[in-house]
Amino acid sequence: MKVSPEDPPVPGFASLGLAGPLVAAVAALGYEEPTPIQREAIPSLLEGRDLVAQAATGTGKTAAFALPLLDRLTREGGSRGPVAGSGARALVLVPTRELAMQVAEAVHKYAKGTRLAVVPLYGGAPMDQQVRALRRGAEIVVATPGRGLDHLRRGTLVLSALEVLILDEADEMLDMGFAEDIDAIVAKTPATRQTALFAATWAPRIAAIAGRHLTNPVRITIAREKRPAGKLPRVRQVAYIVSRAQKPAALGRVLDFEAPKSAIVFCRTRLEVDELTDTLNAHGYGAHALHGGMVQKQRDRVMQAFRAEQAEILVATDVAARGLDIEHVSHVINYDVPSAPEVYVHRIGRTGRIGREGVAITLAGPREHRFLRSVETLTRQPIEVLTLPTVADLRARRFEATRQALGAQLAEGGFDDMRTIVDALAQDFEVLDIAAAAVKMIHDASDKEMGAAPLEPEPRFEARPAPAKRPRSQASPRQLSESGDVALLRISGGRRAGVRPGDLVGAIAGEADVSSGVIGAITIADDHAVVEVPEGLVARITAALSATRIKGQKVSVRRITDGAASGPR
Ligand code: ADP
Ligand code: MG
Repeated sequence: MKVSPEDPPVPGFASLGLAGPLVAAVAALGYEEPTPIQREAIPSLLEGRDLVAQAATGTGKTAAFALPLLDRLTREGGSRGPVAGSGARALVLVPTRELAMQVAEAVHKYAKGTRLAVVPLYGGAPMDQQVRALRRGAEIVVATPGRGLDHLRRGTLVLSALEVLILDEADEMLDMGFAEDIDAIVAKTPATRQTALFAATWAPRIAAIAGRHLTNPVRITIAREKRPAGKLPRVRQVAYIVSRAQKPAALGRVLDFEAPKSAIVFCRTRLEVDELTDTLNAHGYGAHALHGGMVQKQRDRVMQAFRAEQAEILVATDVAARGLDIEHVSHVINYDVPSAPEVYVHRIGRTGRIGREGVAITLAGPREHRFLRSVETLTRQPIEVLTLPTVADLRARRFEATRQALGAQLAEGGFDDMRTIVDALAQDFEVLDIAAAAVKMIHDASDKEMGAAPLEPEPRFEARPAPAKRPRSQASPRQLSESGDVALLRISGGRRAGVRPGDLVGAIAGEADVSSGVIGAITIADDHAVVEVPEGLVARITAALSATRIKGQKVSVRRITDGAASGPR
């Protein structure tokens, strides 16, 4: 494997100065290197500085604040374990219940190997359970402002010894009207605390809140660079919006549709690379894993197979693929959005080399629209947000492939021997029928080679294994609904009405008050749209959408049962 000089090695987590158990924890999660926001934020936070950081969703902000926070708490007496009733040492404020659970779970994972306890506090859950958890002693509290304030007023949350305060997704907290609650909470904390504020967007209101609560902060902005990080090749860039649970099936669909000669599929972590490679191979795709956890010999072997075009799909982490000099990659697929727009540019630099057309495909989560936009700003190239190819699209594509193959054979000639067969059969059959039967044989044979078309809307792959246990006993409704059945809703108003996937996600998440993470594939047709939603939420979503407007229009919603009905594009 050639490593080009323009790709210097990036220092890992250890070089950022983090304590051993934390470095071990991120390694166990399969992280190979810090993301740009982590690389910039962690050293300053370890120094004890206040910090304001702006970076898009999905860039790894949680670890950027959690790791230094954990480092600080372990260094200063964390080894004694939680002391009952002693008050929180770190508080993370987040805008929503869903994020409180999600961030608490992430911090809990990063805290593996330390004895620090994390407790999430959010509304809509019984107080007494949260009170008990606080009484047992929780160094780290992740709370929504409303519920946090509630506990503070009851005296069940004590912040007089707080060392670290994090305002996560501060822009969203302000949008949701939490400014006063935040101020009231901060007023109960010691002035000696360290404070960091994270936001995906920048607004004067954020500067104002930072000015009120932060002291001489370090400022970090990721992805505001206006010039491309490198020369961009000719690449067709598309994105599909799919939820986490639907990614494996979506990838299968995309691979079937694109039938890439040679693709690199990028994942965030080693674990994900291994898991996805297994899943792909179990379904008949020839996939090979490449990540930093493999010994050099294995890596060389994989690269050799890929170069020799014996392996059509390479599933890789960014680190492993850095500096790879491969000529023939036809498709770069981002199974996850990369950790920064610059990383995106880097990834797609693997395709479309030497004047060839390349395709870059991103599977983005419903919340990751903004990320796509910052990539567009950086590259000054559009990313087309498309709907997933349907079974009908796949069929059309395959017919076309068969037609092309036959056309090529006809042009090439050299099938005189076969005429005797046709002559013999022509005694009993129409020549057109003979030809059609021959075409069918060819078509079916190539179909088999490509694997069967996935069924809509069932995921083509088994659900992924459940993620690691969440902290304490917080059951997540999100996880439950994601693993359940999905239903298809047909919503009036489509492309002609200017409806985009984001409008539907916004309307469903906002009006029906469900997590955007549960929304599955979205198909936008000319005059309507089809959205995959969890079976259990059909009634709620239907009711909410029927009562609202999308792009200023009343909409009608009806359930469709037949998977093929999601066909129109
Ligand atoms: P943000 O808060 O910026 O939206 P998150 O902290 O939620 O982003 O992280 C997004 C995803 O990236 C998570 O799945 C997380 O596990 C993963 N992640 C974070 N840091 C890294 C890293 N250094 N390497 C690989 N994956 C990472
Ligand atoms: Mg976040």
